[in-house]
Amino acid sequence: MEVARMHHRIANRRKDFHLKTAHKLCDQGQTIFAEDLNTKGLTRGMLRKDCVDAAFGQFLSLTEWVCWKRGVYFAKVNPNGTSQTCPNCFAAVSKGLEVRAHDCPECGYRTHRDHAAAEMVLHRGLENVVAQGLWGTETACQVGLSGVYDLDKWRGAGIPNCEIGKPALYP
Ligand SMILES: [Zn+2]
Repeated sequence: MEVARMHHRIANRRKDFHLKTAHKLCDQGQTIFAEDLNTKGLTRGMLRKDCVDAAFGQFLSLTEWVCWKRGVYFAKVNPNGTSQTCPNCFAAVSKGLEVRAHDCPECGYRTHRDHAAAEMVLHRGLENVVAQGLWGTETACQVGLSGVYDLDKWRGAGIPNCEIGKPALYP
């Protein structure tokens, strides 16, 4: 009983933190792209133990919901190879998890690994948006979280939430 209550309290605190973080992201931009973790091979390798767990999936669901509530555009993109591609020239730049820097031998672009991956997430998100005819021009952007990118100047694009569809409620 004690243990159950403790778990409950921890879960609540985590949810509260997720909620605050989601709102912070929404404060920063009108567009948020995130890697679609459902399509990433989470059951094997180091990713499972490390940076990606069930809590992050919950965080994404909550973020999607908060974005919907606040009229911020939210979309998931294909996560495959985001950390293994140069966001500047799109050359394949393979690196193990221990390599923290992106250093492209093709075009010489250097940045933090997570920044490069986030830029790829942004590229893909924009590609999808353009492919859907929702938007025309690319704008400046800033990093929110590792793997999560948000745009600063979405304002004016004006996609009403009803066209995006209401996301599933946070469990
Ligand atoms: Zn490059």
